[in-house]
Amino acid sequence: MYNPKSMKAEEFISHPEVLETLAYAEANKHNAVLIDSILAKAKLRKGLTHREAAVLLDCDLEEKNQEIYALARQIKQDYYGNRIVMFAPLYLSNYCVNGCVYCPYHLKNQHITRKKLTQEEVAREVTALQDMGHKRLAIEAGEDPVNNPIEYILDCIRTIYSVKHKNGAIRRVNVNIAATTVENYRKLKEAEIGTYILFQETYHKESYEKLHPTGPKHDYAYHTEAMDRAMEGGIDDVGLGVLFGLELYRYEFAALLMHAEHLEAVHVVGPHTISVPRIRSADDIDPSAFDNGIDDDIFGKIVACIRIAVPYTGMIVSTRESQACREKVLGLGVSQISGGSRTSVGGYWEEEPEEEKTEQFDVSDRRTLDEVVRWLIDMGHIPSFCTACYREGRTGDRFMSLCKSGQIQNCCHPNALMTLEEYLMDYASPGTQAAGQAMIRQELPNIPSEKVRSLVRHNLENIRLGQRDFRL
Ligand code: SF4
Ligand code: SF4
Repeated sequence: MYNPKSMKAEEFISHPEVLETLAYAEANKHNAVLIDSILAKAKLRKGLTHREAAVLLDCDLEEKNQEIYALARQIKQDYYGNRIVMFAPLYLSNYCVNGCVYCPYHLKNQHITRKKLTQEEVAREVTALQDMGHKRLAIEAGEDPVNNPIEYILDCIRTIYSVKHKNGAIRRVNVNIAATTVENYRKLKEAEIGTYILFQETYHKESYEKLHPTGPKHDYAYHTEAMDRAMEGGIDDVGLGVLFGLELYRYEFAALLMHAEHLEAVHVVGPHTISVPRIRSADDIDPSAFDNGIDDDIFGKIVACIRIAVPYTGMIVSTRESQACREKVLGLGVSQISGGSRTSVGGYWEEEPEEEKTEQFDVSDRRTLDEVVRWLIDMGHIPSFCTACYREGRTGDRFMSLCKSGQIQNCCHPNALMTLEEYLMDYASPGTQAAGQAMIRQELPNIPSEKVRSLVRHNLENIRLGQRDFRL
């Protein structure tokens, strides 16, 4: 029985409800009257139900699809403006006791090098990341109670926040570790993490159990209910995601939105972010072994429909995607990207030796952070290194209410300009610096409030004089 308020995975991600949704979407994919009414509702920017969004995803009327893309672009502009928040992943350990068949870290992979960073190595990696200009990290680790217990993760977080190299600092650590207990989530909250991210991989229970044949992750309910435990542990910013390619994308899309509806219904706070990774090749992994791969067009449509369905939720794409694909989805709704990433354990401080392969997946976009920043600027996007919200206590429902009213823009845009100025002063190449300064001059007049504009102008001057860490 479908019940978004239930605390049981199989009731808030009800399989029959997903199937009925898919049938409804299929039956209505040419229904112009219904699609028009859904688009009219979407234009109110209050979001859509999973059923409504599924109809838009299935819609194959060309003219209506163009309206869907245009609306996604408009909503992106209204809620996020032209800023794109930057982050980098930091892999701490690839020890893992799970058997996920799509990930090279699975327990049975005997030929991958197993590695776990010491605290000294964490500090070195963070120094290298700071030297690139990063301020926001997403830490990643396999599930292994012996090698990667929660105490290890907490030590790493402490180390990361403690490193202050030149003008550098990591100001926000997002955490992507296995589903855990309320008690452990509470410890992560106390360690002042930003968002807790956990990819569902697939919401289809039967496939989930086959794709996760062994290890604690095999337990579908425990994994799917993790966000509720995280919220109970006090973490009010959580990030959802599925790994597209494992199951039918239409199924994942509907279920992902049902998960968002569940969080709203129970905790009154929807997901802070949604990630949209696609399966990639890696050691021991061939993506063609999975039949449900999606092409760039469908990927773009998924991004556009998520943008319309949950306007207030940030959307993340990683360097799994190529430059061309990232270019396409930036306009359609993505608000956060990684840059200059290494998906190996270690590798920022010193490139991995050839014989030591610890990557979780092949990176498609291999440009440096400076190149990514320049590329964004050249396309008219403001690269932002902002981490202000959680440091200002704007998390959970407080953050969501600012987001839903669109007021958050009054912080995001000025913060993007100030953190970009820091980046330009400390890390940018001369070409990026010139392009960035021109962008800041051009964007300053777009701050609507005279008071805020003059404050930002003043802060920019101070940044040029050597001060750091201004935020609204
Ligand atoms: Fe382990 Fe995560 Fe890889 Fe699964 S996806 S094998 S849990 S690191
Ligand atoms: Fe993100 Fe908040 Fe900064 Fe906006 S002000 S970019 S929402 S941290």
